[in-house]
Parts: sequence; structure tokens; C-alpha cells
Amino acid sequence: MWNPISSILFLIYKKNMAKIDLSRSIELFSRAQKSIPGGVNSPVRAFKSVGGSPIFFKSAKGAYLTDEDGNQYIDYINSWGPMILGHGKEEVIDAVKSQAEKAFSFGAPTELEIEVAEQIKTMVPWLDVVRMVNSGTEACMSAVRLARGYTGKNKIIKFAGCYHGHADGFLIQAGSGALTLGEPNSPGVTEGTAKDTLLARFNDFASVVELVSNNPEEIAAIIVEPVAGNMGCIPPNPDFLVGLRSLCDRENIVLIFDEVMTGFRLSPAGAAGRLGVEPDLATYGKVIGGGMPVGAFGGKRHIFEHLAPNGPVYQAGTLSGNPLAMVSGKATLKYLNDHPEVYQKIDNTTANLHREMEILLLEKGVPFQINRIGSMISLHFCEGEVVDFESATVGNNEHFKLFFHHMLNSGVYLPPSAYETWFISDAIGNPEREKTIDAFSGFLKSL
Ligand SMILES: *Cc1c(COP(=O)(O)O)cnc(C)c1O
Repeated sequence: MWNPISSILFLIYKKNMAKIDLSRSIELFSRAQKSIPGGVNSPVRAFKSVGGSPIFFKSAKGAYLTDEDGNQYIDYINSWGPMILGHGKEEVIDAVKSQAEKAFSFGAPTELEIEVAEQIKTMVPWLDVVRMVNSGTEACMSAVRLARGYTGKNKIIKFAGCYHGHADGFLIQAGSGALTLGEPNSPGVTEGTAKDTLLARFNDFASVVELVSNNPEEIAAIIVEPVAGNMGCIPPNPDFLVGLRSLCDRENIVLIFDEVMTGFRLSPAGAAGRLGVEPDLATYGKVIGGGMPVGAFGGKRHIFEHLAPNGPVYQAGTLSGNPLAMVSGKATLKYLNDHPEVYQKIDNTTANLHREMEILLLEKGVPFQINRIGSMISLHFCEGEVVDFESATVGNNEHFKLFFHHMLNSGVYLPPSAYETWFISDAIGNPEREKTIDAFSGFLKSL
């Protein structure tokens, strides 16, 4: 919706700051719109919630992105998480190059798939078996189908503001992309599908208990982002996940952790490993492919006995376990496993960013909340704590827009929405952090 105050603020802002040249990105965006819906292949890329033209990129190395106009940016998106080691990691490039010489795809079993599954099991010790897919969406969709087939029940519980990909049954208050467009429930999702998805409040265990007792013997699964990352970053209350775990045990409900964002990021064993709560099934994506399109769902063997070809629950994929994708994932996971100090470093970088931004914000007296766990962090321009979907949506989006564009213009590429977590990579060191804090200080001075 057009907002006169924000438009005026934006114009004043635009006038006062020397702008970097984005002419080629602007030109490409207009060309893209002629042959790609909305000019992009995934909606949040379109900059709708912050305004302006999306940046078109041509290369990346380490912590830095280079756009089509030759501008450089420090990358805090890192492809929404996968590039946890930074761009162009030598070990990953070498693995992909040498596989490309051998074969792209067989659609038949390879030893490589076993090696990847074994690598995942080494890092996630509670997991018995894992099936590879091509995206986080597929992983979540398949995990829920398996849970339904296994329990013989139909309904699932999800949490408002949690995102589990764009399968029909998840597009009910789904956070980030959907939230940004102001369409929490997408047209095209039937009422029949929507009625099997029950909505609880994140961090509100009582809201889950109520749904379970109002739908006795009907809940197949509870799916949750153990650390919410699609309404900003929202860590769980200490007892929240433990409560879900014991409720699921009591009621024969499959507990699914959606670790697409948190997996291999918050610890080698993801959020489950960091927070010490084990789900029955977990879904993965993002980091697991090291930048290639990969997803996976894994968990307890007795549940997976129900999955095809062992059991009747169908799930398949022509390119699942694709060799090029597997070597990229394997090289990334192996590097993380062999270099646990990466976790220390990205967590420290993020903690330092947190502390330094906090000092500047307090000095300036702008209302804010910073949420952080490990290498996930988000900044909300609001007074109260951000603990769930409701509290995540009260932030001042006008401040966020100015903030986003100031940072972009200063060479810092942040997620173009207040509902997205920033992803810190191993390539971001002290010089990058200092540049980021300088830009941030410049933004606060401009207010
Ligand atoms: C990104 C994400 C997904 C969807 O993964 P895609 O690969 O984009 O399909 C699912 N769940 C969570 C928590 C995510 O962050």
C-alpha cells in the first residue's frame, strides 16, 4: 500500500545520500519482468517490503558479492544460509569440478549418497536414516506425509510465523516471504487442505496443549522451527521444545524439527544438538547443499520403515541425491565437521555485531530489539520483546526500510525484509564487521 509519509521520508533520504550506481541492476530488473513473473524466481528477492530495485549479482568470493554494476557488498544473506563457509570455498569448488568431469546425474544409486548420509549421521548422532531431496520445501512436505502415513492421523500443528516451504498445507501464516507480501494465506490453497493445518503460537506451549486436547487422536505431527528464523530470529523459551517433546511422546504425535535453516548452522547437529532436544524427524536444506539445491529429511528407523520402497508412503525424485549436489554438500559438511572452530568464529562474530549495534542504538535512543542465537541474528525496530508472530509484526518498517537502503548503499547486503534472519558466514572477519558497524553508525546519524 502507498504510504505518503514513508514515501516522503524515502525521498528526503534519497536526496541526502550519494547513491551508488545501480543502473545495470535497474535495467536488468525491467528486462526480467518481461519474461519472469515479477522479475524474480522467488518473491522475497523482489525488494517489495523495502522498495527500490533488486540488485543483480554476477560473482562472489569469501564475504563479498559483486553486482552487475561492479559494486561490492559484504554478504549477510549468504544465499539465505547455505554459504556458511563464505563464497567460493576452495574445497567445495574442487569437489564440484572433479565430479563434473565424471558425471552429472545417473538417476541410479552412487557410493557418494552413502558417504553423504554417513557424514550427516556423524554430525547428527540421534538420526538413524536420511533421505535426500532437492529443497527444504520437499523435505518438509515429505516428512509430514510420512508422519501421517506412520500414525494414520490427518492433522498437523504448525506455528504462526514459522515457514516450512511453500507446499499447500504450510501456507497458513507462514512468515517471511508470505508475510512480507501481506498474504499469510495464499489463494490457491483449498479450504480442505487448510483445515488439516492447526495453528499454535510459537513459545506458547499452552496453545499447543489446547489444540491437542480439542482434536483428540487426530494430530499426526507437530512441525516447528526449533529456532524460528522466518519472522526474524526467535529462539525458543527454555521449556518450550521440552514441552513439545513430552506432549508428542504422550499423545503418539510425530515431532518434526524443521532444521532447514538451523541444521549444521547452530551446531553440527543443528538446533536439536545445541538445545538438547531430539525430534522424531528432522528436515534439512540450505547448508546441507553448500549452495547446490539439496534438502533432506531424516530420523528414526521405525518411522522410515513406512517410506517407499520399504513401506507404502510414497516419495521420490528424479534428481534426488544428484552427484554434483552431493559433492558440494559433502565438502561443506565435512569441512564443518573437521573444523569445529568455524562455529566458535561465526558465533563470536555475531555476538560482537550484536554488542556493537546495541551500544550505538542505546546511545541514539531508538527503540529496538536484537534477537540472536549462534550465527543467527535479527534487528527489530520496536519497544517490546519479540517472542512470536504477533510481537514480530509490530516493528517500525519505515525505520527498517531506511536502515536497509542505507546499509545497501554503504556496501552491506542485508535481507530485504525485517522478517528475515541475517546469516553470518565464516568469511566475515573483523574488517567486515568493522565496516558494517561504521555503516550502521552512519545510518543512526542520518536519522
Ligand atoms: C528456507 C526454509 C524452508 C524452505 O526451503 P526451500 O529450499 O526454500 O524450499 C523450509 N523451512 C525453513 C525453516 C526454511 O528456512
